[in-house]
Amino acid sequence: MKIKWAFRVVIAYLLFGILMYLYLFHMANTSIPTNLKGTSADPATFLNSRELFLSEDYSKIRNLLFFLSTPYEWLFYFLILILGISTVFEKWSRHTSRNRIIQTLIYLFWFSLASFIFTFPLSYISYRFSCIYHISTQTFHSWMKDEIIDFWVNYVTMFVIVFVLYALMKKFKKKWWLMAWLLSIPFTIFMTFIQPVVIDPLYNHFYPLKDKALEAKILALADKAHIPANHVYEVNMSAKTNALNAYVTGIGSNSRIVLWDTTLNKLSDREILFIMAHEMGHYVEKHIYFGMAGYIILTLIGLCLISKIMAYMVKKYGRTLNLTSISQISSLPLFLMISSMLIFAASPLTNWGSRYEETRADRYAIHLTHDKKAGIKAFQDLTRSGLSEVNPPLLVKIFRYDHPTMMERILRLEKYKNK
Ligand SMILES: [Zn+2]
Repeated sequence: MKIKWAFRVVIAYLLFGILMYLYLFHMANTSIPTNLKGTSADPATFLNSRELFLSEDYSKIRNLLFFLSTPYEWLFYFLILILGISTVFEKWSRHTSRNRIIQTLIYLFWFSLASFIFTFPLSYISYRFSCIYHISTQTFHSWMKDEIIDFWVNYVTMFVIVFVLYALMKKFKKKWWLMAWLLSIPFTIFMTFIQPVVIDPLYNHFYPLKDKALEAKILALADKAHIPANHVYEVNMSAKTNALNAYVTGIGSNSRIVLWDTTLNKLSDREILFIMAHEMGHYVEKHIYFGMAGYIILTLIGLCLISKIMAYMVKKYGRTLNLTSISQISSLPLFLMISSMLIFAASPLTNWGSRYEETRADRYAIHLTHDKKAGIKAFQDLTRSGLSEVNPPLLVKIFRYDHPTMMERILRLEKYKNK
């Protein structure tokens, strides 16, 4: 019976994969509207034929990998539950020690390891494609090192969360989700605060801008936007990628604007200043804080739903899933599966919110710099360097795009009247 279910779910996953392949490779129309042909938003005007071909190809592959990887994670959680593997991990942890901390550490180690091995093929395929299309410049060794750092960062974070979560589930049978939410607030704030100084430096090297002439221009612009000078950093990404990027991170005294060195090396000063002004828009409008508030609200709704769905699943399908109560740690895959599904279901909304902020940051940038030409050129160069598509298929935009499409961003700049 259980094997039959496992088999059915695997078949369903494969069918979904085929459908998504057909949609992304054969059905979706990603050409730009006829009235925009020949404008600055038309990639044919700024990419050569080879770049055009590569960007179409690579975007399709990347979109397919995106739609395959999230349900792949659900498949893992489901299989590990129904095949009794999670129960085995729990037994091993109980045999080793009576101490709850050690039990949690052991269960999580086996769980994380199984998850790492199961998802490794997809991560590796993504990495390989990124190398084939000359986006990633990372050696296998360096990539693997990042994967291993990821493993341990996730392991430690997950230990703190899971240990507290299951203690709450045991203590508060009905209201554990509310308690978990209350504790998640200081935890979220703390993690956002330490991210740029504790977590990010594990992966990359951060330092003040190297190009001092450019730094002077950037700081003059920052001054215009009332941003303290010591909050602008450069990060060494050229050892890993050809893509361009910049972002705002952290809160309070740790808040900062970070520019990838690839952006600084490959774009003209005017383009860099436009991108910088965009990031200043995020900084000045405090988008990190809005993001955090939104996250805290969604966590409340999410945890409440998870508690209801988990209780129902254990009651109705407990035997099939090898679960007798939600407070046993072997129910963790069920918790993670439901959370991941809810996050995916909410992604059209969260992406929409993010696209709204991005549009505002673009508007801020054009009002600060009045440099329409540099803005458009920067967007075109970003498209080329990431081999991204200007006009993605609808489902890709809804579920994957936390930025407006390049077509929308360029058009909006085109409409801006230089004063
Ligand atoms: Zn942005």
